[in-house]
Amino acid sequence: MAFTVPALNYDFAALEPHIDALTMEIHHDKHHGAYVTNGNKAIEGTEWDGKSAEEIVSSAAALEVPAIRNNIGGHYNHTLFWESLAPGKGGEPSGALGDAIASTFESFSEFQAKVKAGGIGRFGSGWVWLVKAGAGLEIVSTPNQDTPLIDGKTPLLGIDVWEHAYYLKYQNRRPDYLDAIWNVIDWDKVAERFAA
Ligand code: MN
Repeated sequence: MAFTVPALNYDFAALEPHIDALTMEIHHDKHHGAYVTNGNKAIEGTEWDGKSAEEIVSSAAALEVPAIRNNIGGHYNHTLFWESLAPGKGGEPSGALGDAIASTFESFSEFQAKVKAGGIGRFGSGWVWLVKAGAGLEIVSTPNQDTPLIDGKTPLLGIDVWEHAYYLKYQNRRPDYLDAIWNVIDWDKVAERFAA
């Protein structure tokens, strides 16, 4: 069963002004579309055909094949990214996730600062993540389309810091994009992953 790009639960323009409609359209249809097309080609006829994206990107053997690592990783990461965003969201997480963030990172604003630093500090293309690692929370960053699953860590929130995620609106200002994205994070979705 070949992978497909999942439909968004909101319009391309729904995250304006924080993420612009044209960026969303190109990012979702073209970039994510290419990861799916090339990932399907890479796994066709292999032992990975029919496995879930999570299974594939958690497998050391699959990760030795660059076309699988990059494209199925891209599919996995972007699927999680679209689900983590929603219009009219933002704010701060409450409940168990809010408590865990506050106790791990001292405060929500300290957490935000550390995510921002992680995103700025990723040289070139990649992601900054909030992950569950063992019983605790961590902020990590990965290059290219690598996922935290490679290190046995469970992604709760991933923020794409490839230039294609922000360049049309923010150009070289990755820090401004990282400030704006908090307005469209769906903490209910992140909390669901934390509780799972
Ligand atoms: Mn991307």
